Amino acid sequence: MEINDPFQAEDFKKCAAFHGHICPGLSIGYRSSLKAMEWLRENRAEDEEIVAVIETNACGADAVQVLTGCTYGKGNLLFKDYGKQVLTLLSRKTGNGVRVSLKAGALELNEEHRQLMGKIRKGDATDAEKERFQALHLKRSRDIMENTEEALFDVREIHEDLPPRAQIEPSKSCDRCGEPTMASRLSAKDGLRLCGGCLEG
Ligand SMILES: [Zn+2]
Ligand SMILES: [Zn+2]
Repeated sequence: MEINDPFQAEDFKKCAAFHGHICPGLSIGYRSSLKAMEWLRENRAEDEEIVAVIETNACGADAVQVLTGCTYGKGNLLFKDYGKQVLTLLSRKTGNGVRVSLKAGALELNEEHRQLMGKIRKGDATDAEKERFQALHLKRSRDIMENTEEALFDVREIHEDLPPRAQIEPSKSCDRCGEPTMASRLSAKDGLRLCGGCLEG
């Protein structure tokens, strides 16, 4: 093991374990999360001190959850489906916010890498091609880990209204299936109060 192997950093290993593999997207999520956290000068959110807004639900989202403590389950990870590698962190304590966005070209794959990816998607890559792809994929992931912040990201302060905290509300039973459902998620139909599943039929 190389002493300065970025894949051996304890926090990166946690991200890789959570995500399931190492990939360029995970590296982007790792680097952007560290940058945004450093900017906010806060520690990992144990509860809801920090709110994260991600603009794609691709691989990097898993590093964001591990490193910022903003998770799907706690409701302080918000997803906007814009298809962009952008992470915004907002602090409830200070009201500060930072937006870290990937620069154009920073995640670009070379021609060989792209072609192999296409073959694998179609399911007609040979074992040798799969191996070559994996090597290129890891190399790209490592390059991102070792690249300068300036080469990867634009970072800017933002001022945004914070979304309301996650609500814990009592459940009521759906009139059709009987399953307990957050009261605000029940809809009235034909004189019944129905959950989303029953509403859709
Ligand atoms: Zn991945
Ligand atoms: Zn129901």
